[in-house]
Amino acid sequence: VQVELSNYTLYGRVGIGSYGEVCKIKEDKTGELYAAKILFKPISETTKSEKISLYRELNIMSKINHPNIVKFIGFSPINFHNEDKPVIITELVSEGSLMSILEKERSGLSPDLWDDTHKLISIYSIASAMSFLHSHGIIHRDLKPANILMNDELYPKVADFGLSKIINKEGSESFLSDSSSGLKGTPIYMAPESIVSHLYTNACDVYAYGIILYEIVTGEIPFKGFNMYQILTQIPSGLRPKFSGSVPLVFQELIESCWNQESAKRPKFNEIVDQLKNNPEFITGTADKDDYLNYIEYVEKYEIKYNKNRKIISLK
Ligand code: ADP
Ligand code: MG
Repeated sequence: VQVELSNYTLYGRVGIGSYGEVCKIKEDKTGELYAAKILFKPISETTKSEKISLYRELNIMSKINHPNIVKFIGFSPINFHNEDKPVIITELVSEGSLMSILEKERSGLSPDLWDDTHKLISIYSIASAMSFLHSHGIIHRDLKPANILMNDELYPKVADFGLSKIINKEGSESFLSDSSSGLKGTPIYMAPESIVSHLYTNACDVYAYGIILYEIVTGEIPFKGFNMYQILTQIPSGLRPKFSGSVPLVFQELIESCWNQESAKRPKFNEIVDQLKNNPEFITGTADKDDYLNYIEYVEKYEIKYNKNRKIISLK
């Protein structure tokens, strides 16, 4: 798993994160392209919370093999210039994030591939990835369109496990401090109970999924015109995005169940996957039934693995 970076060529930056930049790299022997997240700071200068974030991302990603989760390739404790800045290598997911696709769509520059079939497949795939994570006790805690990357076929890969956590048993709760929570960025994917008490459970990921689903299905920006203060005070008392245009009833019902004020009433991801798979009413608009069912079959036949005992590094 330890990667020798001299076997790779470094190309330009493809993204930037809170504690590192992401660059395209090429494995010289095979010509294969990958992504490398290179930490900004040497490990000796990172804060405790940055280290925790790095180790979580490494240890969680390295255990997982799922078609809709960014695949881990390897780790190097030093960067391309032999500085002690750790590098995480993953598969390259080349079409940017779901956030950028949704932004393009809103400004009338939607990629041709981004049709009803790809939207439905994305809705299914994200639920499938999340169901897999939850089945292994992993809460993502930062699920949002910026952390869902799109490959060249415009299928999604859940990414960014910097805030994720493995919990020991179903129904466990975890707390996230202000400094590491989503409060740094946009709070619109945060469940009411997370805003109020910093409490995170599987149901919070389901809530975030509900908001993402709303964005994919309606094309609207949630809480447009509300400021941060209004959002943080009004979501806990039940504020949710509005449905203005016509949305197929099955989708509206699924979305509203995911963002239910009462976390216990939200569906589980395995139930969402079952619904999406078995209720043909979800195949709406111009979505192609065969393409959709074929994709589901591809995911189900994929050799999905979870390597429980794999651990790259531990916090000293
Ligand atoms: P952070 O935890 O700091 O938000 P991310 O893991 O979300 O970091 O990565 C930051 C950005 O870098 C992403 O929004 C995306 O644009 C880009 N990126 C991350 N991983 C990849 C990848 N495997 N392939 C392509 N781009 C990526
Ligand atoms: Mg991110």
